[in-house]
Amino acid sequence: MSRAGRWCKGWALWGLPVPVRVLVVVVNILAITLAVITAFFAPVENVDLMRFALLAGCALGAIELTRHVERRRTFAHRPHVAYIDSTAVWMVAAVIVLPPVLASILVVTIRVVVWLRVKGRKAVPYRWIYSSSTVLLGVQAAILILAVGLRSYPGLPGGTFLVGLADLGVIMLAAAASWAVNFLLILAAVAAFNPQASVADLFSNFSEQILEAGAAALGILVAIVLVANPVAVPVVLVVLAAMHRGLLVSQYEHAARIDSKTGLATAGRWHDFAEDMLARARHHQTSLGVLIVDLDHFKSINDTYGHPFGDKALRAVADELRSEVRELDACGRWGGEEFAVVLPDVGTEDNVHRIAERIRLRIQSIFLDPPAGTGDAVNITASVGGVFHEADDTTSMDDLILAADSALYEAKNDGRNTVRLRSATVDDPGVAIPPAPDAANAADQAISE
Ligand code: GH3
Ligand code: MG
Ligand code: MG
Repeated sequence: MSRAGRWCKGWALWGLPVPVRVLVVVVNILAITLAVITAFFAPVENVDLMRFALLAGCALGAIELTRHVERRRTFAHRPHVAYIDSTAVWMVAAVIVLPPVLASILVVTIRVVVWLRVKGRKAVPYRWIYSSSTVLLGVQAAILILAVGLRSYPGLPGGTFLVGLADLGVIMLAAAASWAVNFLLILAAVAAFNPQASVADLFSNFSEQILEAGAAALGILVAIVLVANPVAVPVVLVVLAAMHRGLLVSQYEHAARIDSKTGLATAGRWHDFAEDMLARARHHQTSLGVLIVDLDHFKSINDTYGHPFGDKALRAVADELRSEVRELDACGRWGGEEFAVVLPDVGTEDNVHRIAERIRLRIQSIFLDPPAGTGDAVNITASVGGVFHEADDTTSMDDLILAADSALYEAKNDGRNTVRLRSATVDDPGVAIPPAPDAANAADQAISE
């Protein structure tokens, strides 16, 4: 068997339930047949080839310029990240302005390039081909409506204001038909693949459809620019790519900064912030505190009440930490159920202890209702390890974290739900400092105030 034959034989398509297989094959054949039929609707002239080259160039340019962001979006599976499918913009313009054969070729080219350059091996071939066929079929529906409704098809409507308005109505009808064909065929595939899926599931990403509508509207503008002043078309490419990168990159930067489960700084972000604070302390010859907070027996909370309840507890602890530490980045999620706090310009070791104790008491005051029917309210406690440091030139942030971590170990060994501090001096063997009674009292007062 040839390589291509083996490749086809290996496709997941052949292992699918019969209704899905039938749907996929029928839609593919229908798309190709219709594309061949509509190809005879209009001849190709030189100006069409020039416009085709311009649209194809812009489409490929847009794919390349936004490729890295789109790959991250696809793999991270973040449906809430707003994203305009820029390929739709060029396809819509092509359907309005180009003869059908060139419009269909452009659509297929774009789908192949996106597959090769963006989706890579993550795309399941038969699914990609199916969704490409739904796009191609949608395009054929639009071509049929435009061919019947527009006197100037292919090309842009002109004439008086009223004629232009009527033509715009036809174009919008074509866009709506194309969208509907595409959307219904995707729904049909989802429904055939997973008959248990509820209607609500099928419509769950409806908000993305609004963005699709925006892309289609932009496509109409590109068509107008393409006919009136083709040189200006690349301007749209620049606008799209810049907005795309600007908006999405900042959304991803936010995701890298903020831990999605707790809303606290991520470990990386916290570490950067803590390094900055240490550098500032060195510069101004001030002091700094670091705390590591680790929840007690958290594994057994998870084991008893389930992971979602554990997550709820983590959020409750994060809320308490946030209200104790004002600066957003000063408090981070250091590990699974560990949190890190940096206390810039903290002044004295007593202050570090007081704040640590206040945090411990706040967490101790958390009582959560257990998942239905499993008994009494659940109490959370934490152990806290801390370090006070008067800035010098030799101690690094990692030294401080290490010291806080070994103080935490001490706190765990001493029975948990307690605070221990350590010095960060390298040649100091690390004497655990038991809680000073007056500091604990002061913390109690601070909480009750
Ligand atoms: P110790 O008092 O010694 O700290 O006991 P522990 O059970 O808290 O300690 P250990 O580090 O052995 O267990 C940490 C547990 O935290 C294990 C893991 O199931 C849980 N955990 C880590 N990350 C998450 C998370 O994101 N959500 C939930 N629900 N649990 C988590
Ligand atoms: Mg732990
Ligand atoms: Mg723990």
